[in-house]
Amino acid sequence: MADISGTKTIVEASLNALLDDETFLPDLHSATREKAFSSLVSILSTPNHVHKSFLRVPLENGKVVRIPAFRVQHNNIMGPYKGGIRFHEAINEDEVVELSSLMTLKSALHDIPFGGGKGGVVINPRDYETKELHLISKKYVQYFSDILGPEKDIPAPDVGTSAREMDWMMGEYKSIRPGMKYRSSFTGKSVVNGGSLGRREATGKGVYFTFRYLMHDFLNAQHQWLKERDNIFVKTALDHEGRSLTLAIQGFGNVGSVVALEAYKSPHLNNKVVSVSDKNVTLYNSDGIDIPELLKFTTRNNNELPVSEKELKDVDIKADIMDRDDILTLNVDVLFLAALGHQVHKENMEGIKARVIVEGANAPLTTEADDFLSDQGVIIIPDILANAGGVIVSYLEWLQGRDTQFLSEEEVYERLHDKMQETLDVVLPQYFGDAFPLRKNCYIHAVMKLSTVLFRQGKLY
Ligand code: GLU
Repeated sequence: MADISGTKTIVEASLNALLDDETFLPDLHSATREKAFSSLVSILSTPNHVHKSFLRVPLENGKVVRIPAFRVQHNNIMGPYKGGIRFHEAINEDEVVELSSLMTLKSALHDIPFGGGKGGVVINPRDYETKELHLISKKYVQYFSDILGPEKDIPAPDVGTSAREMDWMMGEYKSIRPGMKYRSSFTGKSVVNGGSLGRREATGKGVYFTFRYLMHDFLNAQHQWLKERDNIFVKTALDHEGRSLTLAIQGFGNVGSVVALEAYKSPHLNNKVVSVSDKNVTLYNSDGIDIPELLKFTTRNNNELPVSEKELKDVDIKADIMDRDDILTLNVDVLFLAALGHQVHKENMEGIKARVIVEGANAPLTTEADDFLSDQGVIIIPDILANAGGVIVSYLEWLQGRDTQFLSEEEVYERLHDKMQETLDVVLPQYFGDAFPLRKNCYIHAVMKLSTVLFRQGKLY
């Protein structure tokens, strides 16, 4: 069950922190101010629209099924709704709502001119033939074409979808709405079909960049200033001086595998990937795992990690095989959560030993686990800060689709890193200067921007 109240609580807490700040919305006073703030809570914690349909799909076996599908449009004050479409058997309306609100906050935090949206189709894509998935993707566009579009709502890949689905969907959109700027109607497409170079790697690259910037670039640049702060992060980050930071990465898909490779190749940080996992297995080697070799294996093996001694031996990778969820409780410095939502919760939160958690997935901690671990002094680098690389490069793809001028891969990564660094340079000094956890700090920044624009557009009544 999704954790909508989590987003609402933190939006409310951010606004409470801002209520007493006279420099924030200085035109609002006393009763009007209180009223405007309560409007803000309701606007930012409720979606504008929840669209639900049952896609009618004939299967290869002759049966015709009706598949529940959603598109939630949370908020568009900053620009068109934007967010992925997830194909997952356990997705439900509440979760899509929660994920759409994270998109609103993520885009606002990084100054991307988009609002927040999210889609979901309740299927396990592994249970369907390619032909059926093609039909499901087309049907999604047929059912929702009125509310989608390059200036209205722009979907992208998410869990269970990829460039293949976006290509199919864009193709269908182009047929239904001829004459529209179809290249910008979906992002995360294949490069030949108007996608951006670097989009596939963008989320993972951004996650690792955020982590590296925090643990290395910012730390080195601000060393003296930071040393004087009695901040738990500083203690954690400085504590490892002289030895490798150990990293465990949950999820070896589009995000986790890119994070693993970035960490393996990193010339900046002394770190080593000692563990990776996927839906079947955890692999562990205290000396570090050979990530490039592992990627060769997963590319050949339907993106799945080796599960037996024999498979490991065949590719000459040394690692212990453990249960899938063992990765969460390993004795490592840093845990990257790059699989699904709500992976760390009440039942397993006490077993976490990592001192730093990086959220590559959206909402991988329940609110309870987030509170518990923050109280224990664990540094949590939140999703809306760390995993925004996907939507940042989606924005570049959207721009490239409009003017049909395309950037090189290098230009894309440069712009991605610049954008993330701009945000980090705003958020971090404040984080080290006050007592809030990083998540709350990011929410305050995002909520502040959204509120100011809502106010300026006369929407707070
Ligand atoms: N699904 C990704 C996310 O959750 C990317 C969204 C997009 O590119 O629009 O951030």
